[in-house]
Amino acid sequence: MADIKSVEGMIDSTPIMKDYADIESSKLPEYQIDSKIPEGPIADKWTNYKAHQKLVNPANKRNLDVIVVGTGLAGASAASTLAELGFNVYNFCIQDSPRRAHSIAAQGGINAAKDYQNDGDSVYRLFYDTVKGGDFRSREANVYRLAEVSNNIIDQCVQQGVPFAREYGGLLANRSFGGAQVSRTFYAKGQTGQQLLLGAYASLNRQIEKGQVRSFNRREMLDVVIIDGRARGIIVRNLVTGELERYAAHAVVLATGGYGRTFFLSTNAMGCNGSAAIQAFRKGAYLSNLAFTQIHPTCIPVHGEDQSKLTLMSESLRNDGRIWVPKKKEDAEAIRAGKKKPTDIPDEDRDFYLERRYPAFGNLCPATSPAVPPRNAATPASA
Ligand SMILES: Cc1cc2nc3c(=O)[nH]c(=O)nc-3n(C[C@H](O)[C@H](O)[C@H](O)COP(=O)(O)OP(=O)(O)OC[C@H]3O[C@@H](n4cnc5c(N)ncnc54)[C@H](O)[C@@H]3O)c2cc1C
Repeated sequence: MADIKSVEGMIDSTPIMKDYADIESSKLPEYQIDSKIPEGPIADKWTNYKAHQKLVNPANKRNLDVIVVGTGLAGASAASTLAELGFNVYNFCIQDSPRRAHSIAAQGGINAAKDYQNDGDSVYRLFYDTVKGGDFRSREANVYRLAEVSNNIIDQCVQQGVPFAREYGGLLANRSFGGAQVSRTFYAKGQTGQQLLLGAYASLNRQIEKGQVRSFNRREMLDVVIIDGRARGIIVRNLVTGELERYAAHAVVLATGGYGRTFFLSTNAMGCNGSAAIQAFRKGAYLSNLAFTQIHPTCIPVHGEDQSKLTLMSESLRNDGRIWVPKKKEDAEAIRAGKKKPTDIPDEDRDFYLERRYPAFGNLCPATSPAVPPRNAATPASA
């Protein structure tokens, strides 16, 4: 591990900030977030940055340690990629196995601008739809980069053995998803996240076997250690022995996922509790748009007291059929009272409200939404 003398006594015992007044009077500098997006036209920013950034000589890489906290799609990919590049990686997760990260719950698919369907897709259109789906709150240059590398990501996943759905002739299949008018979503039945994570986990395991990644399961990060303004280590609790452990490195990557557990019941796993993000916040990291949490309104309802999470309805059903409600209140009441069946309501008494309100999108309207209402309610949000 990195030669950093001591991290003892570095567990921050200051209370978590209670309300906005506390935050205002805290020692944090002004709320000015420098997202460090490179200069230049949007389509060139990250390409230029990549072409000009400083490189690390392969002989030096093996002297540099990186801590990656998280083993979901973000963490497993980061850890295995950094290890493949030659860095020494220390990878942590709460679960008993890296492959139990919440990412296994993702169902519907992953977008890429391959334009296999010849329906007018492009990198720009994927960029635009994603910014719009994010209610114009995303960092546009980063979204552009995501759209730009989307095709490479699909190629890499296929090479890792992810069994995406295929057409009868063997070519990769696509469906439309998340309110988009083009079909650009690559999927594996309703278990895309699970299959993607198995691919990332296989790459991670390869690096663990080579000794390039050291895997620490059942460890919960309790604190980030800052030395000279840089994250240089972490304090974790070993969830088997209960002991505190300390790890030091030259860099720390937090890939600890979302905080959906701020909702009492959600489709997120119990581990999505924001425990790592709050530690980074207490050490001065900025968090923004905290209300912008993805929720899934179409879930199988609560069915017992011991239920820990909601189950998303199969996204394989998306875009099929038509969505309607009864036009007349008395019909709705009769259905609710069991006096009428939905099939008793004739077409003219049905309100196909999505087709009425969003004629260009109709039933493409997504089944998931941000927890805050989009500023323009007529804009379908992305899944
Ligand atoms: C039901 C459902 C369906 C979805 N469907 C889709 C979809 O079709 N397409 C799509 O693009 N997205 C989808 N999403 C969203 C997607 O699943 C997530 O955005 C993505 O999986 C997040 O990946 P991640 O690697 O950032 O986090 P996670 O997979 O949550 O991984 C977080 C990791 O961090 C670790 N961790 C967290 N806190 C700590 C700590 N304090 N100490 C140590 N380790 C810690 C955890 O152990 C875990 O390994 C869906 C989400 C849900 C809930």
